[in-house]
This record gives sequence, C-alpha cells and structure tokens, in this order.
Amino acid sequence: MTAEEKNTIARFLDLATDYLKDGHAQNRAGAAFQDDVFADDALQGGLHAEDPAEPASGDFSSLPLAYQIDENENSIAAGGDIESIAAAVQACKACGLAATRTHAVPGEGAAFPLVMVIGEGPGADEDAAGRPFVGKAGQLLDKMLASIGLFRDKNCYIANMVKCRPPGNRDPQPQEIAACFPFLEQQIMLLRPRLILCVGRIASKNLLKTDKGINALRGTFAEFKVNPSEEAIPVLCTFHPSAILRDESLKRPAWEDLKLLNSRIENKE
Ligand code: URA
Ligand code: SF4
Repeated sequence: MTAEEKNTIARFLDLATDYLKDGHAQNRAGAAFQDDVFADDALQGGLHAEDPAEPASGDFSSLPLAYQIDENENSIAAGGDIESIAAAVQACKACGLAATRTHAVPGEGAAFPLVMVIGEGPGADEDAAGRPFVGKAGQLLDKMLASIGLFRDKNCYIANMVKCRPPGNRDPQPQEIAACFPFLEQQIMLLRPRLILCVGRIASKNLLKTDKGINALRGTFAEFKVNPSEEAIPVLCTFHPSAILRDESLKRPAWEDLKLLNSRIENKE
C-alpha cells in the first residue's frame, strides 16, 4: 500500500470518528505516512523526468466528495461540497468572461489534497475541455508535480484564479479576479489543502494581495488565510509552466521551488 493510500484511509477513519462524535469534520493535522518517492534520489530526474510514474488518469468521477465542514466556519451553504461549487461556477455570470466562455473550468483533483495548485485562468484547451491545465502548459505542470510525487488524481487539486477563459489569453482583469475570488476561497475552505502552490504572477499576486512580481515572491513561503480565524496555509509561488516553456532558463529556479515544496511536505507530513 502506498503512503497516500494509507493517508487516505487514515483521513477517512478520522472523518468517520468525527461524524460519529458530533456530525462535523474536525480540522486536524492528519496522518503522516511517507513514500520513498520523496527521497532525494527520486528527485534527481527533476523536471527532466520522463513520464510520471503514475500518470493522471483524467477520470475524477469516482473521487470521494470533499467533506462538509461546519456551517459556522464559512459562508458555504449547508450541503456545500466541491461539486456544488463546480455547479455554481458553471452557472455563474458574475463577470464579463461568462459571455465568451465555452466551458467554465471549476478545477479538479483529490478531495483531501496535500497541495492545491492555483493557476491563472483557462486557456483555449481548457475552455474546450472544461478542465484545468490540459494543454501544453498543463502537461509540463503534471510533470513538475509528478517529479515530487504529486498527482491531480491522488493528492493534488488544481484550480485557477478565474474560472472562465479571458478572450485571446489576455490577463484576467482585476474586476474579473475579484468577481471570481469567492469561488477560490470556498474551494480552499472546503478542500483544506496542507500547502498551496501558486503558479505564475497573476495567481501569486492576487492570492497574496501584493504588488510584488513573481521574482520577488518565489523561493520562500508565504501564508494565506481565508479569514482571520482560520489556520494559515503555507503558500509557495513559482513560475507558470507557460513561462517555463517560453524561457528554458526558468526551469532551474522552478525546480528549486519544487524541491523547497517537497522539503516542506517531508517535514510537515
Ligand atoms: N494556464 C493556467 O493558468 N491555467 C490553466 O488551467 C491552463 C493554463
Ligand atoms: Fe463567474 Fe468566475 Fe466565470 Fe467570471 S470568471 S463568470 S466570476 S465563474
């Protein structure tokens, strides 16, 4: 049995205990099983690693729903789960991007993610598929994640700052980001990722509410809280895979960031 499978079982046991106790899931540190995949040797392939050891299957329909959290803790309506958020995103017309989208792209991944990846917004491929990071940049992102044992169908959730494609791949505008931000906040509250990885300038600046550029933000951990009473979630920023595809020299620092994320995973889990 892999460490992730053990961790999943341990989390379900925790949840079952919580439900028997008072019907609500507790926010807890969770189990700490480790796979050898995080050992240093396994990192040597780095971003040059060939195929991921376990390619993302693309079938997320069988994943368990995220658990329902205490209504008093957040603004998600009773019965709120990751699928209700997806349905709300798909029906949303809160900003102008609704008019030009083919499919809204709520996000996808594991219900109890170790890492939540936040990108900028859907591109043409994602708009056509209704799924995040499925084009060239997405393939590189999957490789980057796989190099440190992260997979979107196992221990990662992948979402974007805006859920609908900005036409012509322009940057999402501040009012579009602001309109869409509550969905991201709800996803974070519901998924409770251990760590957040922001890829690219747009996600990094807007999550951390700063004007600093990606070069200043990457390389060290920051923190994010949905609201002041929440436990802070460590956030690491790095380059967007599209930027890495355009500029090979970013590969090395991105790999340094991934190693940093991995060492945090090793120390914390
Ligand atoms: N770029 C992003 O930022 N997000 C996607 O989903 C795809 C490409
Ligand atoms: Fe709604 Fe976000 Fe899409 Fe705008 S980008 S229409 S806020 S889901």
